[in-house]
Amino acid sequence: MKVIIVGAGVAGPILAMLLQHKGFSPVIYEAAPSIPSGGGGVQLSPQTFKVLNIVGLAERAIAAGQAQETLEFRSEPSGRVLFSWDIPALIRAETGWPVCHIRRITYVRLLVDAVRERGIEVQFGKKVVRVEQEGEKVRVEFEDGTEDEGDLLVGCDGMSSDVRELVFPPGKEHYTGIIVIGGIARRHPSAVPPTVLQVFGDAAHFLSAPFSPTEIGFQCALPEPRVSSDRWRSIPPTTTQGQAMLMALPQARWGGGPSRMIGEATSAYRHAVSLREPLDTWHEGRVVLVGDSAHPATPHLGQGGNQAAEDAYHLVRLLCRPGHIPLSPPELAAALAEYTAVRVPHAKDVVASSIAEGRVRVLAGPEKCKKRDEALGKSLAEGRWRDVVRRMRGPFEGESEI
Ligand SMILES: Cc1cc2nc3c(=O)[nH]c(=O)nc-3n(C[C@H](O)[C@H](O)[C@H](O)COP(=O)(O)OP(=O)(O)OC[C@H]3O[C@@H](n4cnc5c(N)ncnc54)[C@H](O)[C@@H]3O)c2cc1C
Repeated sequence: MKVIIVGAGVAGPILAMLLQHKGFSPVIYEAAPSIPSGGGGVQLSPQTFKVLNIVGLAERAIAAGQAQETLEFRSEPSGRVLFSWDIPALIRAETGWPVCHIRRITYVRLLVDAVRERGIEVQFGKKVVRVEQEGEKVRVEFEDGTEDEGDLLVGCDGMSSDVRELVFPPGKEHYTGIIVIGGIARRHPSAVPPTVLQVFGDAAHFLSAPFSPTEIGFQCALPEPRVSSDRWRSIPPTTTQGQAMLMALPQARWGGGPSRMIGEATSAYRHAVSLREPLDTWHEGRVVLVGDSAHPATPHLGQGGNQAAEDAYHLVRLLCRPGHIPLSPPELAAALAEYTAVRVPHAKDVVASSIAEGRVRVLAGPEKCKKRDEALGKSLAEGRWRDVVRRMRGPFEGESEI
């Protein structure tokens, strides 16, 4: 069965490898001329490693990033450490897999390289502009006038998915009122174990996590009422605009790490956090959605790529489930309906949690911040981290079904 995958971000390459592993023939088409280089880092949690392990790629991904050991929360207004605990190490002990941070471009490159090593075709500069379904085939047309035809089409084309726009109700895109300005800085050698640091301020939040022994990524969240179309837009700190953007951040004056990292940034980006309504149905005939195309979340939970890996696992599991083989039209429809049913509630929960997390990070006013800081310290100490572990356990316990 030939499967056309649209998008070589995170979901597309993972899905391609799983499909090939189960005997399907995937091909990937990506709109960008090469791997898009914007953005900073992504968090990879145990779900991703469980899925990558099916195709022998988990250890390689772990080695390309930085496994974290500690999580520390601080309050900027009070200067207090709210919480410092080896939660990432506990997550590893409970699930068998670490929580890592990695440059997004390093991760996507690793996935695309692995896809190519397995002989799967990836074509760049191929923007899908038309989708047609006829009989038992689905045809795509690209911006350059070329076409291809397959038995199934999977839209892995991210938040502004054209496949969604062409086949499904597009859903309104809206700006959340939060911007994220981030970057990468040199990591100073220190005795501190790899730590995810979060500093909560008044209408400002700072997060940092090392990506490697030599690099650390940081991300500042701020409320910003003006609507902007910036999406992971690179703004080099060597430019006047980049310097002005970084130095205007309130976090650039915060001690204990943030000011140094921001001052020493070697790359920087700006991202206006937008959302699109998640869909209730992710399939239509021979077209199905995976990852951000179906359920974009805000980046505040660090779950976009991890949820995409879970989607890919469940889609392949259900496509090759014994009752669904040989995937005649009714069997295919049943497999895709089950995929939607399994994933929609979970994805909605993650989207809602990511929105709530963003609100907490940009909360304004001394009284509200004081209450928030007290609650944060308590909630983690009282076991909220168990909810985090629960979310990171999926998409299967024990042996993989594929
Ligand atoms: C440039 C970029 C930088 C990012 N940086 C960060 C970051 O720093 N931190 C973070 O948490 N998240 C970041 N994200 C988002 C995060 O990677 C995603 O939430 C997550 O990985 C979900 O993966 P996905 O494969 O569903 O979508 P994505 O990773 O967004 O991949 C979608 C891919 O589809 C391609 N595409 C779009 N339209 C078409 C079309 N018509 N035809 C063919 N291909 C198409 C896109 O070019 C893109 O490569 C970034 C996304 C992008 C695109």
